[in-house]
Amino acid sequence: MGRLARFRLGKSEQDVDRAIRCVVAYAYEHTAHYRRLFDDAGLRPDRIEGARDLPRVPVTTRDAIGEEPWRSILSDRAVESRCRRALTSGSTGTLLAVHLSAPEAYYRRLLLLCAFYKNLGLRLPLRVAEVGPRDERPPDDLVQRVGLIHVAHVRLEGSVAEAVGLLRRFRPHILTGAPSCLELLAEEWRDEGCGDLRLIVARGEVLGREARERLASAFRRRVVDYYGCEEVGNVAWECPDDDGRLHVNTDACVLEVVSGAGRPVPRGTEGAVVVTSLFSYTMPFVRYALGDRTHFLEEAGARCRCGSALPAIAAPSGRDEDFLVLRDGRRVSPRTLDNVVGHALYARTACAERAVRYRIVQEEVDVVRVEAVIPEDAAEDLQVALDVACRGLSADLRCRLYPVVGFPEDGTGKFRRVVSRIS
Ligand SMILES: [Zn+2]
Repeated sequence: MGRLARFRLGKSEQDVDRAIRCVVAYAYEHTAHYRRLFDDAGLRPDRIEGARDLPRVPVTTRDAIGEEPWRSILSDRAVESRCRRALTSGSTGTLLAVHLSAPEAYYRRLLLLCAFYKNLGLRLPLRVAEVGPRDERPPDDLVQRVGLIHVAHVRLEGSVAEAVGLLRRFRPHILTGAPSCLELLAEEWRDEGCGDLRLIVARGEVLGREARERLASAFRRRVVDYYGCEEVGNVAWECPDDDGRLHVNTDACVLEVVSGAGRPVPRGTEGAVVVTSLFSYTMPFVRYALGDRTHFLEEAGARCRCGSALPAIAAPSGRDEDFLVLRDGRRVSPRTLDNVVGHALYARTACAERAVRYRIVQEEVDVVRVEAVIPEDAAEDLQVALDVACRGLSADLRCRLYPVVGFPEDGTGKFRRVVSRIS
């Protein structure tokens, strides 16, 4: 009974606490990772009664998951063939296939669409164009079937002009995607009337001040920043009255800002973002570090001038990655390249015990170097898959795979996953 509370929209504090109790109990019962984490800390899961007890749980990092068999974070009840998967390599370059059950995938998507609808004052029916790299088939939205929200997926592997043509025909109200993908579109976009376009929603990457200005001036529409990750979906959405301020999506997660020791820091003090998903059981994320930094803007419970009483954080600072530049001058978003390489790696290493860590470096115009922590004997097969994947982006593009044993720390604590040496 209590487990269905995780899918409730508009969760009260009591709902959040109940969802935390359920997810913690489930994670302990059904995943090797959390059982070990709790046992090593001498912590019983029933001691976690709600959000205020969460700081007692040790933080889980993606690196820690990379050091143990990745299935240790997957529920022992999950049927892998029936799961939806989303690939992410986050700030550490560890490739993680986030597994969700079908209801979890629906809910994750519903939360995003609700955030578009509720918080931006748009009317239904709504047309949303999602711009970005190829992905596994997204869930067939219930809301889409009911006809309230129509979603079109616009891929960027091919010609950007084609993508713009598709958008003109679809006439979206909302255009959403990673800032680097939206920027490519913006370069091609000649405003002959944006039709019904109301809003640009940047998500999936940190939106820099300059990128925001470039997008706003190309599309001549308001640009808002949504903070999210594959593990949880939408984590926070930008306040309609104040850019630079994001409201935490408390239907999806509990967000904490913590010190290096994993303790919550006072309001106004910058720290690492740690999230606890309130709805993922297939792959639970409890006090999971996303690798980004931010600070809380107000004490909990303060009401914002937009009317929301949800906690507010400053726009997170995070990863900084390069575009790939092709011979014909075309720029490829780091998101697209990462997705293409990530899928090729995952397709060949899915049965591997450990999550693969990798980095992509463009060395010359036509040559991309993929450094990956893989066994030598897997290299030949992977090389072929990567070649095919990269040719899909550009016929001239070659890919060289280098198995490595690890990546040295550069001292900054940030790992740049996509690097271009072409200026
Ligand atoms: Zn607000």
